[in-house]
Amino acid sequence: MRVTVVGGGIAGLTCALSLHAAGFAPRVYEAARKVEAVGVGINLLPHAVRELDELGLDGELASVALPPHRLSYRDRTGETVWEEPLGRPAGYRWPQYSVHRGRLQMLLLAAVRERLGPDSVRTGLLFQRFEQSAGGVRAHFLDRSSGLPVVDDADVLVGADGIDSVVRSRLYPDESLPNGNGVHMWRGVARHPHILDGRSIVVAGGTPGAKFVAYPIEDPATPAADALVNWVLEVRHGPSAPPPGGPGRRVTAAEARAGLSSWNLPWIDLTAIAERSSAIFEYPMLDRDPLPRWSFGRVTLLGDAAHPMFPMGMNGGSQSIVDSRVLAWCLARDDDAEAALRRYDRMRRPAVNAIVLANRDLGPEETIARAEEHDGELPLGQAEEIATRYKRLAGATVPQVNTHPSWTVPVIAADQERLHG
Ligand SMILES: Cc1cc2nc3c(=O)[nH]c(=O)nc-3n(C[C@H](O)[C@H](O)[C@H](O)COP(=O)(O)OP(=O)(O)OC[C@H]3O[C@@H](n4cnc5c(N)ncnc54)[C@H](O)[C@@H]3O)c2cc1C
Repeated sequence: MRVTVVGGGIAGLTCALSLHAAGFAPRVYEAARKVEAVGVGINLLPHAVRELDELGLDGELASVALPPHRLSYRDRTGETVWEEPLGRPAGYRWPQYSVHRGRLQMLLLAAVRERLGPDSVRTGLLFQRFEQSAGGVRAHFLDRSSGLPVVDDADVLVGADGIDSVVRSRLYPDESLPNGNGVHMWRGVARHPHILDGRSIVVAGGTPGAKFVAYPIEDPATPAADALVNWVLEVRHGPSAPPPGGPGRRVTAAEARAGLSSWNLPWIDLTAIAERSSAIFEYPMLDRDPLPRWSFGRVTLLGDAAHPMFPMGMNGGSQSIVDSRVLAWCLARDDDAEAALRRYDRMRRPAVNAIVLANRDLGPEETIARAEEHDGELPLGQAEEIATRYKRLAGATVPQVNTHPSWTVPVIAADQERLHG
């Protein structure tokens, strides 16, 4: 079965690796002329790390990522509201990883090129439209260098082209723009001494728009050196003062210092964080309404193209990794591509749609918002109840992650030979 993947982000590249592991030789088409290590920090939760481990990537991941051991909710003065262990200390068989998104993407890209061949990811090709028939699906791209059209014929087309997915817009031509909740995020990475024990993710403040998040993504190179710390400050612009510059606007160090000046967190030097960040960018917090269907005949959606969500539970990218593994499993089980895509849709869409909606209600961060409303005090057991409820929804409790049957498809020797020569 020939599979074409549109988009070379975390979702598209993991999809390609998952399909390859299941015996396929997919092609990836990416609009950017070159895949570059852009972005800031991201957390891969144990349910995603398990899938990357089963793709044979745990060693490489461990070499570029840090395993945080603790999630620490704090108030605006830095005092602890609630804490829970993460990854292995919480009982998972897999760690959680904090990693630079760009490094993760380059790791995935290198693995795709090594396993599927140097030409498996074609860059500078902008997906425009598709048409499908009983016999296959034809995708049309624009070569951004030559301006010439490029056509690709396949049995299955996967749209992994992110929140502004063109594949999705062809399936849902009347869908409006993404939804914003009025919150903007200033995101940066800076050299700074390790915060707290150097293995904590700190979420301080409370309600969306009044929150500061920080966690390390790289240890100091020497004992005297600084760690690399990822940070996010949520801000709200008044309705009369729309943010200048639109999404991806660069925030100056002076502006960041002013934004952070009302915070008093004794374990981090916020002035240094603002001044030492190589670049700070502002993005609106966006999602899209859950879809009634992802799969249409031979075409389906995956990752942010299928389910962009507010970043409340560190789950968007992690869920796209699970999508990829389940999609490959479905395609390997069924010679009928359309039936396989219907099965994938049934297995993933209701579960992930529920996370999108839960994140609109703050997801696991309901804990810190409730605490802020009640002067830092939470009724006994409420934080545990919120955390467990969200994990269950995300397929991320310790028993769910540790014991669910593997999505790995046994590839028979003949297929291996066909693939690897
Ligand atoms: C502040 C913040 C923090 C987050 N933290 C976490 C976290 O801790 N953990 C987590 O799991 N998730 C997190 N997320 C979510 C996560 O970043 C996304 O869910 C994930 O990166 C989406 O990956 P993707 O590959 O689906 O989309 P993208 O990364 O957007 O990739 C899409 C790719 O498709 C390409 N493309 C687009 N259009 C076309 C076209 N027409 N033709 C060809 N190619 C095209 C793009 O160039 C891009 O390379 C966070 C998000 C935010 C905003």
